[in-house]
Amino acid sequence: MEYRYLGRSGLMVSALSLGGWVTYGGQVGPEVAQACMKTAFDNGINFFDTAEVYSGGQCEIDMGVAIRKFGWKRSDLVISTKIFWGGKGPNDRGLSRKHIIEGTDASLKRLQLDYVDLLYAHRPDPDTPMEEVVRAFNHVINMGKAFYWGTSEWSAQQITEAHGVAQRLNLIGPLMEQPQYNMFHRDRVEKEYLPLYKTYGMGTTTWSPLASGLLSGKYNTGIPADSRLAIEDNAVMKRLRDGLGSEDGRVKIAKVVKLGEIAQELDCTTAQLALAWCLKNPNLSSVITGASKPSQIEENVKSLQVLPLLTPEIMESIEQVLLNKPAL
Ligand code: NDP
Repeated sequence: MEYRYLGRSGLMVSALSLGGWVTYGGQVGPEVAQACMKTAFDNGINFFDTAEVYSGGQCEIDMGVAIRKFGWKRSDLVISTKIFWGGKGPNDRGLSRKHIIEGTDASLKRLQLDYVDLLYAHRPDPDTPMEEVVRAFNHVINMGKAFYWGTSEWSAQQITEAHGVAQRLNLIGPLMEQPQYNMFHRDRVEKEYLPLYKTYGMGTTTWSPLASGLLSGKYNTGIPADSRLAIEDNAVMKRLRDGLGSEDGRVKIAKVVKLGEIAQELDCTTAQLALAWCLKNPNLSSVITGASKPSQIEENVKSLQVLPLLTPEIMESIEQVLLNKPAL
């Protein structure tokens, strides 16, 4: 495993990490979640990501049980959770001081932990003043309940505003952003955030590197029954499923087929190629993967061996397939 500094901090995260969205506490039971987390840990993954909203809190519960069960040393782990959607009440959501503090406490209880290493604002909250948000995350850090705070899917403008408030008040600003990043979704990470890496030393922990599995090639000829897109009662999966049949979906699948040919040349799988392509970006601290089977993790960690094979020529042939490089 390769370990990278999380932005301009002294914290090291595994270049590949494992998250629980949709999967743990939802698509698979606790035994499978445990098996996946153990496989990840045994392969050097030290960073595990969850959120208060994942499966209504059950993801945190199942991941917490796994952490306890294996008796891993706390210092060997980097655990993150995210606050924004904590329940149905008017104060169970958003980034008010109240919800950040109460939401974090509830997450820690579900995880059976005294602290998380990383705590994210899962989305921006235009209804809460930035000063309230920055002060609340600093309070949680000062209470020892989180070590670093960050953002997820905030615009560069919003992150810049948070840093401005933090500097003015002599407080800690966000260290990392958690954006979507994969071969089909590039602009923010490759363009919009560029000033943030330099000016504030922001790190990135990116999500959906396989575009929910699409970039593994598993959907090239249909929807496998044991895949996340086959889950019936999930609005996001329904949207992704419907998207596959659209013109945009067909174009994407055609590109995945061509990426599969490049992968074959490199003697790797399409998923490994897609993950290695993410890892190639020097502004990425950690690529958060997902897995519903331990075998997927075993396959995915081998993307680190594909990374040195991504020569400028291969990167260019990938660009010729994607045709979506952001204009700088
Ligand atoms: P991916 O895009 O990598 O999708 C992961 C899924 O793809 C797996 O669950 C599995 O699904 C399938 N898969 C994984 N490896 C393989 C393989 N080698 N071959 C075939 N199929 C494979 O990542 P996620 O969308 O899960 O995102 C990763 C993490 O990022 C989440 O768990 C979460 O922690 C975080 N995240 C954060 C968000 C945010 O707003 N901050 C939003 C979304 C995610 P299947 O069961 O179908 O096989």
